[in-house]
Amino acid sequence: MEKTIFMKIIDREIPAEILYEDEETLAFLDISPTSPGHTLVIPKKYSVNVFDTDSETWLAVMRTVQKIAPAVRDAVGAKGVHINSNHGEEAGQVVPHLHIHIIPRTDRSKFEFWPPQKYKDSEARETAEKIRANL
Ligand code: 5GP
Repeated sequence: MEKTIFMKIIDREIPAEILYEDEETLAFLDISPTSPGHTLVIPKKYSVNVFDTDSETWLAVMRTVQKIAPAVRDAVGAKGVHINSNHGEEAGQVVPHLHIHIIPRTDRSKFEFWPPQKYKDSEARETAEKIRANL
């Protein structure tokens, strides 16, 4: 299969500001940051997203996210971070290699979030029933 852009970063075929590396994961600066310090954490073992990632790899990525997040926050003088991830094209995933975004936030200005909606009538119960049936 053709290497993803992130595999090329793992293999040092294209440059990136690498922040941290261990046997299972790599963390580096996003090339188009939402704010300075915007970091991506990826597994070295290839998977596309949450739907095809094994639990060990997922946990390794999350361990690195937790290790990196305070360093990112403090380095840019932020007060908090978004830990955010897109899984599937419809959810905004552009690079088909599992990655978690760590995005520092210094204040709540320009804070955009998913717009809240309301369930109608029995929709919440029916939706919950469908999810539980899939577990
Ligand atoms: P997605 O939309 O798939 O969740 O996010 C992909 C992210 O990868 C984007 O934020 C984008 O800026 C970042 N990205 C894409 N290509 C490169 C690259 O070549 N180097 C780095 N460092 N980041 C990249």
